[in-house]
Amino acid sequence: MTDFRSGFIAILGKPNVGKSTLVNSLLGQKIAAVSPRPQTTRRRQLGILTIADAQLVFVDTPGVHTPRHKLGQFFNQEAEQALDGVDIILFLVDASSEPDEDDQRIAGLLAALRRKPDLVLGLNKLDLLPAEVLEMRRVAYQALVPEAPALAFSATGRLGLDELITALTAHLPVRPPEYPEDQLTDLFEREIATELIREAALIFLRDEVPHALAVRLDEFTERGEEGAFIAATLFVERESQKGIVIGEGGAMLKKIGSAARKEIETMSGRKVFLELRVKLSKNWRDDEEALRRFGYKIKD
Ligand code: GDP
Ligand code: MG
Repeated sequence: MTDFRSGFIAILGKPNVGKSTLVNSLLGQKIAAVSPRPQTTRRRQLGILTIADAQLVFVDTPGVHTPRHKLGQFFNQEAEQALDGVDIILFLVDASSEPDEDDQRIAGLLAALRRKPDLVLGLNKLDLLPAEVLEMRRVAYQALVPEAPALAFSATGRLGLDELITALTAHLPVRPPEYPEDQLTDLFEREIATELIREAALIFLRDEVPHALAVRLDEFTERGEEGAFIAATLFVERESQKGIVIGEGGAMLKKIGSAARKEIETMSGRKVFLELRVKLSKNWRDDEEALRRFGYKIKD
């Protein structure tokens, strides 16, 4: 594994060129439709693809979802910052139509970046155009970014995606993987889900189980069209608190679960199955190891 490659790839392009679709296709539909509310996330979201000899971490920057009229504004204000630490920029275009002024503006701003990551031109929607038109489009888009290698593919038709992965991998530095190989996205959504469960529990429990409650996310599995499956454990410090959290015939836990599920669904824009358990963990607040498990940072 000495020449394992890994790095960050920002997918940039105007709305509707297929950025989200491409990430989903590359990852096998596994993080489909993950779209946290704008006010809950101002951080970028990652799509992580791990293959035998490389890890490709796709970065979905907030600006990628910026409405057309705000695109230029975003780029002017935030592009440098959003692209910080990125190894490759994949400039994605819709090859089924001519380049327009949005494409031109993005190309212009890319050219003006002070720190220049490797640039790759992605001609998407290959399935929509006959070969002779493709050549014409390739020339037209290539003119915007003359130095960038160009690849044509179809995110929905899954054409040319292996070649795209190979080309991107070649531009990545030799570097060990940043994330576990089974991880598909960064922890951000999990963190929010955990917080939402805790929040729901605290709303219903009020002062009865004050701060003696911790939430651990045990499982977060994508189930494609069906949404996501989430299992979490609520930890309490005393046996009596366990009874309160579970409630009469499980009624309280059900109420918490249902409220948390709705919040998570709104946050992530897809269906969620949520399974909650309650466990006793004596004095977890004094236990460093437990604190770490619950994701609390311990100051030195
Ligand atoms: P984004 O705004 O750049 O993230 O674009 P989306 O991923 O939301 O895609 C916009 C539209 O283009 C959707 O209706 C997709 O189904 C469609 N689309 C994306 N990639 C392709 C492709 O390769 N071929 C075709 N025919 N449609 C595509
Ligand atoms: Mg999108």
